[in-house]
Amino acid sequence: MASAKRLGILGSTGSIGVSTLDIVAAFPDQFEVVTLTAGNNLVRLEEQIRRFRPQMVAVLSEDGAKQLKQRLGDEAPQILSGIEGLVACATHAGIDMVVSAIVGAAGLVPTMSAIESGKDIALANKETLVTAGSLITEAVARHGVRLFPVDSEHSAIFQSLEGHRMDDVRRLILTASGGPFRNRPLEEMVDITPADALAHPNWSMGRKISIDSATMMNKGLEVIEARWLFDVPADRIAVHIHPQSIVHSLVEYIDGAVIAQLGIPDMKTPIAYALSHPNRLPLDLPALDLCSLRNLTFDDPDLERFPCLGLAYDALAMDGTAPAVLNAANEVAVDAFLNEEIAFLDIARIIGATLKGLKVKPLEHIDDVLRADLWGRREARRLIDSQAEGGQAC
Ligand code: NAD
Ligand code: MG
Repeated sequence: MASAKRLGILGSTGSIGVSTLDIVAAFPDQFEVVTLTAGNNLVRLEEQIRRFRPQMVAVLSEDGAKQLKQRLGDEAPQILSGIEGLVACATHAGIDMVVSAIVGAAGLVPTMSAIESGKDIALANKETLVTAGSLITEAVARHGVRLFPVDSEHSAIFQSLEGHRMDDVRRLILTASGGPFRNRPLEEMVDITPADALAHPNWSMGRKISIDSATMMNKGLEVIEARWLFDVPADRIAVHIHPQSIVHSLVEYIDGAVIAQLGIPDMKTPIAYALSHPNRLPLDLPALDLCSLRNLTFDDPDLERFPCLGLAYDALAMDGTAPAVLNAANEVAVDAFLNEEIAFLDIARIIGATLKGLKVKPLEHIDDVLRADLWGRREARRLIDSQAEGGQAC
């Protein structure tokens, strides 16, 4: 039997991180956890350390690292902090694959470091490809590593492409649930609260991606992610609203054939495929019962009610630093919405206004991405503050 795949899991305490560890726990002969990282959830990380016995872990703050050391005493592995800690966990000599499951642009530097040190990547952190797609795909090719999508739509496309020629692809079709406000008229979207927006109908996910799903920025980010993962231009990537979240995405071929991947909405399926490709793991999940589904429906997205999706296509067309700025502005606006500083519909306004003020530059180095990210954050913050002071932000 092949030896266990040695994993580094970045963002192990989040929704994807926990599902990944559930799979590891179910297949202890196939996977070994070597490094784990978390932001601030020390309680959950401590449990994970006791259970999975990693060699090295990292948390955000030095203080968090100290607390964790105290709590674990003799059972403590090597505990690091900050970006250096994250990078050490991403590049550890004893790992074969990094599961990139931090949320937001914070995932970029450790993911790039993992690629540069020759690790295969199971990529959940879509923001890595959104902000730095050209640099990441170039680094993946240069270092001869494999990048497996975890995002369910991209996993579906990846699976629907296997055994086919890219030259034969006409379009990629990403499905979107439409989120909790799929049918809500625009005038009733004015007073949406964070609690309303966090209640996703089909998927249980972290807070940021749940808001992104409600605004449909998540689908916009996924269009950009697909552009880089599969090297298909934006005008050949379509989005269909599919509220049942059963058809996870589709590939349309030049002869009219359309190949899709279906399944119940559970992230364990795409995570497991990224971890064990080309093999499949016998997951303990309910089978998809097609006969019990009354219907599967598909519709065009409404860009008037969900302008974030259009903004993502705009940023992709602007190219260079624009997607990094789109992402940064979105992260700041989502945070401000969750803190009840701005209204739901302001999220798109802030992002649109931030992009409007941008002078696009080409991406030559990861520092160009980090500078654009910082600029986008400051500009979005400035617009939010000036709106709070009663000014006309956007
Ligand atoms: P989450 O908020 O549940 O977890 C995020 C993880 O990252 C946690 O471990 C947190 O401690 C850590 N973290 C947060 N900020 C950090 C920082 N600044 N530095 C270091 N670590 C930090 O998020 P999630 O829902 O698991 O999503 C993770 C990524 O996967 C996102 O990019 C998301 O878009 C993508 N994704 C998630 C799902 C899903 O079903 N949850 C599906 C597809 C893609
Ligand atoms: Mg997705």
